[in-house]
Amino acid sequence: MSLSKQAELDQIKADILKDNICLNLAESSTNLVFGDGNPDADLMFIGEAPGKNEDEQGLPFVGAAGKFLQEMLSQINLKREQVYITNIVKYRPPNNRDPLPEEKIAFLPYLERQRKVIQPLMVVTLGRHSMECFLPEMQISKVHGQPKRIKGQVYLPLFHPAAALYNGGMRQTLIDDFNSIPEILQLIRKGK
Ligand code: URA
Repeated sequence: MSLSKQAELDQIKADILKDNICLNLAESSTNLVFGDGNPDADLMFIGEAPGKNEDEQGLPFVGAAGKFLQEMLSQINLKREQVYITNIVKYRPPNNRDPLPEEKIAFLPYLERQRKVIQPLMVVTLGRHSMECFLPEMQISKVHGQPKRIKGQVYLPLFHPAAALYNGGMRQTLIDDFNSIPEILQLIRKGK
């Protein structure tokens, strides 16, 4: 792990606290859930916002959706520690409501700083909210599983594991899309 990258990530986390981002969410939640994994990762996963388990542990994707994400990672021979995982919104919204547009906007500059520090080969957006931050004009039902390059960064929009967990059709689509990740990474590495 690169120490300077970790130091830069620590600074971004400190800035979220110093800048009083979404104070109401900060007050109603237990932990700031900043991100987890390898700062030198090729893959950066971006979800929506922490849920109950994430808020309690201060780590992203550690509940049922996280277990499913980990299973899909192991199918492509990756461990959670090898990738970087975060969310758009870093505090749990009350009662797991959807993040508000202004909450997503408030956290976006910090998420962009995180992405620029990590410099992943590919950003994998999980769910519609995350996709819309980077691919605003697109519909997830149409573009899921299709890598898009924007300003030099490749994004892969996928369905959210929590949405796909109990929906058989969406679950299989997510698994199929996920299994295409190694091939897409290989094409990016070859410069295609
Ligand atoms: N869902 C998300 O979008 N993020 C998490 O961290 C957990 C569940």
